Amino acid sequence: MRWHSAGDKRPMIAIGLKSFARWALDFALPPRCAGCGTIVAEVHSFCTDCWKQVDFLGHSGCSTCGIPLQSTESTICGACLARPPRIDRTRAAVAYGDLSRSLAVHLKYGRKVAIARTMARYMAPLVGDGEDRVLVPVPLHRRRLWKRGFNQSALVAGALSRKLGIMSDPLVLRRIRPTPPLKGMSLIQRRKTVAGAFRVRNPRAIAGKTVILVDDVLTTGSTAEACARALKRGGAARVELVSWARVVKPSPLMR
Ligand SMILES: [Zn+2]
Ligand SMILES: [Zn+2]
Repeated sequence: MRWHSAGDKRPMIAIGLKSFARWALDFALPPRCAGCGTIVAEVHSFCTDCWKQVDFLGHSGCSTCGIPLQSTESTICGACLARPPRIDRTRAAVAYGDLSRSLAVHLKYGRKVAIARTMARYMAPLVGDGEDRVLVPVPLHRRRLWKRGFNQSALVAGALSRKLGIMSDPLVLRRIRPTPPLKGMSLIQRRKTVAGAFRVRNPRAIAGKTVILVDDVLTTGSTAEACARALKRGGAARVELVSWARVVKPSPLMR
């Protein structure tokens, strides 16, 4: 906006009108697709085109860890049968792909509450039933939290909490030391890196309860396993995990 001459009040009024118009528009704006921004009928949902691009995982796969089952397995995968994982039940809304990645990135760097709500909408049906449940977001180290200003998983846990009426406690679990990005590391390296990185701050908050860990993207699960270890040591009766996206290695028998 440029001032034409001193004392000309028109631009000022124009700015006022413009911001009012924007506010009114935001208020009356129809819901938009979280993937591409096109107008959709329902709030926090995807348009048909984006919907087709997203690979929804739902309750398919191993009843414990959620990974796609081989043709020889019935409901539990061989790995879970041989060695039951610390996380009693793992579910992810979608497979990690271009669109699910883009949503996770926008949430992580943009603090977009609407995106957290979209994720929660698709994650909520995957949260198991039961009494005495508490949602716990995978924590960031305090240095990372100060830098970013928010924990993206805590935003999603908050949205899930409002949707399901289950309390979210973002303070119960603490990341006591910073960990480098696990990308490119072997499974053993990942496990070593995150071992002992988490601690329960308030065991009373989780004693005898089912803790539902909330994460944005699940890769090998080393971080979540380390969280589960701390939570069970802290007295949690059961640990479940629900994440937005999961890296699924396509099984040759599935495709
Ligand atoms: Zn779309
Ligand atoms: Zn399994």
